[in-house]
Amino acid sequence: MGQSTLALRALNDEVVACNLCARLRSHCTEVARVRRRAYIDQEYWGRPVPSFGDPEARVLALGLAPGAHGSNRTGRPFTGDGSGDFLYPVLHEAGFASQPSATSRNDGMKLNGLWITSVARCAPPGNKPTPEELRNCAPWLDREMSLLQKLRVVVCLGRIAFDGLLAHEARIGKPAARSELVFAHAAEYTLPCGLIAITSYHPSLQNTNTGKLTRPMLLAVFQRARALSGVC
Ligand code: SF4
Repeated sequence: MGQSTLALRALNDEVVACNLCARLRSHCTEVARVRRRAYIDQEYWGRPVPSFGDPEARVLALGLAPGAHGSNRTGRPFTGDGSGDFLYPVLHEAGFASQPSATSRNDGMKLNGLWITSVARCAPPGNKPTPEELRNCAPWLDREMSLLQKLRVVVCLGRIAFDGLLAHEARIGKPAARSELVFAHAAEYTLPCGLIAITSYHPSLQNTNTGKLTRPMLLAVFQRARALSGVC
């Protein structure tokens, strides 16, 4: 096992033990205690959600935060809720995921060429982390991106993820000219550090149920990411 694989695994272990945001930790614990009726017989994860994927990834999918009854329940990004039910079939078709169905962290899913994480790693009330909570969580992303040494493309799922990536770039001393970087679906930017950012609407039910984000739209984003990453 390579050094970066071990370091990413150790980082995930640290993330899972993080308690920096009292509001988020207590929310996740409470959601895990009460549970949704449909999952009442399940034990919720209820902790910060570790990242998931291929340590050799050239593409990073950057989301917003775990869903209360999705990854806060299952312990794996985008697993077990409507967002994941929309995203993983697309990842499978684009060649990044070994299977279209993501139901639990033990379902056998493997990612190839892709790493998935988010700008906040605990489920926030109303899916809205505060600016302070996003700042608390930012060092995890900084450390993680430094360990993903083959990274070329970042797919930002939603505006807050895009802002999180740009804030990361500023923290590492490669600030981008914000006024030139407009969030839009399928916009593409080469950042000063050399990474390519592709922006996408988030696959939330709010976007997918209304048709704001369709499966062909999201598939095109990940197919483009694959092409730009140099792995076809
Ligand atoms: S959101 Fe991030 S910084 Fe805050 S408690 Fe969770 S893992 Fe820690």
